[in-house]
Amino acid sequence: MNKLTTEASPALNGVPPQTGLKVVDKVFDRPLNNPLFPNLRMGGYTTRKGQRGVKVDHGIIHRGDIWNAGDQPVLLRIDSGCLTSAVFHDESCDCHWQLMQAMKLINDAPEGTLGLIIEHFHHEGKAHGFTAKLKSYRDGMYPVPGDKRQFGSSLLILKDLGIKRVRVMTNNPEKLAVLVDNGIEVVEVIHLVTNDPKLRWFLNYKAQTFGHQIVFGDEPQSTGEAALLQASSYPPEPAGSDSRE
Ligand SMILES: [Zn+2]
Repeated sequence: MNKLTTEASPALNGVPPQTGLKVVDKVFDRPLNNPLFPNLRMGGYTTRKGQRGVKVDHGIIHRGDIWNAGDQPVLLRIDSGCLTSAVFHDESCDCHWQLMQAMKLINDAPEGTLGLIIEHFHHEGKAHGFTAKLKSYRDGMYPVPGDKRQFGSSLLILKDLGIKRVRVMTNNPEKLAVLVDNGIEVVEVIHLVTNDPKLRWFLNYKAQTFGHQIVFGDEPQSTGEAALLQASSYPPEPAGSDSRE
C-alpha cells in the first residue's frame, strides 16, 4: 500500500467530488525575471477543500502552452517546498539543487518542449511544518520522521491543465505511483541525483527510508552543478517490498 495517498481517490477523473478539493483561483504566463532561465514563465494556483476550507497556494513554473499539451508529454516535477534549502540555502538536503536542476532541464530542453514544476509550499518538512523540521535537525540533523504529504492538489492542477502524459523528474517511487494510479501516463522517469559528497548521507537516508531511486555517478561533484541524469522507463526496478515505509 502506498503510504502517501492522494487526497482524491480513486481516480483522477474523480477529482474533486470525493473530497471537495477544487481550484478557486489561478494565473499563468507571468514573466520569470531570472536570466539563468529565460525560457521559463511562472504562475500560481489556489485550491480549497470544501466551501469553508482553508485556501492553499501552489506555485508553478512552466515553459510553453502547457494548457494545450494534448498528447504531448510534459516534462514535470512535483516539488515540495523547502524554505531552509531553497530560500536560506542551507545545505542539509538536496531540495534546492533538485529544484534548480529541474528548472535548468526544462529551460535548456529543445524548442517546443513543454515543462511544468508544481511547487507545494505547504509540503515543508514533509508536510509536518517548518518548526517540526528544525526540531528534527536539532535532534541530530535527521529529517523529521514520517511523511504527511498528499498529492491531490498536484493531480487537480494536472487535470485542470489537461495534462495526460508526463516525463517526470523524481527519485521518489511514491510520486510515480500517485501519477500512474490516477491516470497520468508516465512515459519517462528522470532521476535527479547530485554527486555532492556533503549530501551523500542524506540521499542514502532517503533511499533506505523512503525507497528513493538513487544512482550515484563515478565522479563526485563538489559543487553539485554537474547532474547525473538517468532516464529510465517506468516502472523502476523494485526497491524492496517495504521500502516505501
Ligand atoms: Zn529540503
